[in-house]
Amino acid sequence: MNPWRLQELTLKETQKKYKVAILPVGSTEAHGYHVPYGSDAFHSTVIAERVCSEAWKKGSRILLLPTVPYGVQGNTMGFPLTINVQQSVLDSLVTDIIQSLEHHRVMKLLIINGHGGNDFKPLLRTLYGKTKVFVSLADWWKVGNDVLKKTFENVGEHADELETSVDLALIGHLVHLENAGVGSVRSSKFEAINKGWVAIARPWHLFTKDSTVGDPRKATKAKGEAYVQLVVARLAKYVIDLEKSRMDARFPY
Ligand SMILES: [Zn+2]
Repeated sequence: MNPWRLQELTLKETQKKYKVAILPVGSTEAHGYHVPYGSDAFHSTVIAERVCSEAWKKGSRILLLPTVPYGVQGNTMGFPLTINVQQSVLDSLVTDIIQSLEHHRVMKLLIINGHGGNDFKPLLRTLYGKTKVFVSLADWWKVGNDVLKKTFENVGEHADELETSVDLALIGHLVHLENAGVGSVRSSKFEAINKGWVAIARPWHLFTKDSTVGDPRKATKAKGEAYVQLVVARLAKYVIDLEKSRMDARFPY
């Protein structure tokens, strides 16, 4: 039994109070021919597990909630068996989870998101002032943004060298690097879209060849492990500090 995993606890363990909870969120979508549909959920879950493990070693009691395994996929449905859950549905689910935490006096939450199509920031703004729970959010792959280009040769967007390296580190038995494509993408006929002056929901089956964006072929387990260790160290420090911090009128400033 892991003392942080709510799914493994009994009433005996939950008599003692928890101040901070972590909610991992993922997706169920194609990740090229080389990494699995569950990658995003595996990443956020394993990273959250390691964050909890680190925090518990240092005396913090962080609670790990069960992972939400689905994400927003409206523009990636061109690939078989992608499962789309609307952002409004995810927001409702997360709001209910936050209300449950508030009911049980767990007043601090970190959402660890594993999928770029999920956008919880507007929900955080909506909930601000409406719940007493302090809600924070980390897109895990952005946590080491400052070292990304030092660690990886080809930083892309999806099932790329970063994501594939992390897959090799965390779920290596499910990776088939020999099947990886080159991760090249098609340009739009509009310069404004290619330059990012205008945003669209890119139809992934037209934009990409095999759902990969960025060349994954230089991915290694060592690069993935190094990046995960950095992310875990940064997020573990955050939740440890968060647990200790008093929620006074000026919190979190
Ligand atoms: Zn992914």
